[in-house]
Amino acid sequence: MAELLKGAPVAAAITEEMKKRCEALKEKGITPCAAIVRIGERPDDLAYERGAVKRLDNTGIAIKHYVLPSDCSCEELLKVIDEINTDKNIHGCLMFRPLPDRTTEKEACNRLLPEKDIDCMTGGSLGTVFTGSGAGFPPCTAQAVIELCDFYGIDPEGKEIAVVGRSLVIGRPVSMLLMQRNATVTMCHTRTKDLAGVCRRADIIVAAAGHAGLITSEHVSPHQTVIDVGINVTAEDSLTGDVAFASVEPLVKTITPVPGGIGSITTAVLAKHVILAAERA
Ligand code: NAP
Repeated sequence: MAELLKGAPVAAAITEEMKKRCEALKEKGITPCAAIVRIGERPDDLAYERGAVKRLDNTGIAIKHYVLPSDCSCEELLKVIDEINTDKNIHGCLMFRPLPDRTTEKEACNRLLPEKDIDCMTGGSLGTVFTGSGAGFPPCTAQAVIELCDFYGIDPEGKEIAVVGRSLVIGRPVSMLLMQRNATVTMCHTRTKDLAGVCRRADIIVAAAGHAGLITSEHVSPHQTVIDVGINVTAEDSLTGDVAFASVEPLVKTITPVPGGIGSITTAVLAKHVILAAERA
C-alpha cells in the first residue's frame, strides 16, 4: 500500500506559521487584508469562497468582499479593481475565474497591481514565475504542489517529473516551479504520444488534466510519487481526481488523495501569499 500524502497536515503547518507572522504584522500596526471579488453566484466559486474565508479568518487576515452581478459591465469591474489597487489597507486580491466574459477577464486581471496579485492573475506575475525572479506570486495551486513536496521531504532535484497538463493556471507554472528546484520536467498534453510510457519512466507524476481517471495502472511504476491536482465532479456529485486511485494506489510509493490532497493546501497558500504581500508592502 502506498503512503498517503494528505493535504491537511501541510495546510495546518503553513497556517500555524502564517498566524505567527500575521500577529507580528499586527504588532507593527498592519492588519493583513485580502479582497475577494466574485461575479455572480456560481456554485464552485461559492464553495471555494467559503473555504478561503474560513482559512483567511483562521489565520487572522481581514477580508473585504466585492460581489457583482453576473451581467456586470467591464467598467463596473474595472472600477472595483481600481478601488482595490488604491486602497492601501488591502494587500492582496482573489478574483474567481473564469469570468462570464473572457474579454473582460483579460482586461480586469491585468488591471490589478502586481504586488496585490496573490493568485497570479496578471501576465506580469506569470512572467515572474517563468523568469524565476521570485518577485510575484505563483498560482496558489501550483505552489501547493511545491509545499506538499517540501512538507513530505520529496526533493524534486534531479528527479524526472511528468506533468500532465500545460495550462497557464497549473501545468506550465508548476513545471517552472519544479524546474527551479532542478527537476527534469516533461510537460504532457493531449498530443503527447505514449503518455503512459512517459509517465511510467518518471519519478513523480503531477496530474493536472481535468480528466477523471486518466492516470491508470498502465501509467505508473512502483517507485513513484503521484500528485493528483485534478478535481472532477462525478455523476453522483462526488469529487474525484485525474488518477484512478483504487487501481493506482496499491502500485506506487506515495500518492495524494482527492479530495483531501492538493485542494486542501490551496487556501493555506492563499493566506501565505496575503501575509507575504503585507510584509513586502
Ligand atoms: P485546463 O485548462 O482544461 O487544462 C487541462 C490540460 O490538460 C491541457 O493542457 C490539456 O491538454 C491536458 N489534458 C486534458 N486531457 C488530457 C489527456 N487525455 N491527455 C493528456 N493531457 C490532457 O485545466 P486546468 O485549469 O489546468 O485544471 C486542471 C485540473 O486541475 C482540473 O481538474 C481542475 O479542476 C483542477 N484544479 C484543481 C485545483 C486545486 O486546488 N486542486 C485548482 C484549480 C484547478 P491540451 O493543452 O493539449 O488541451
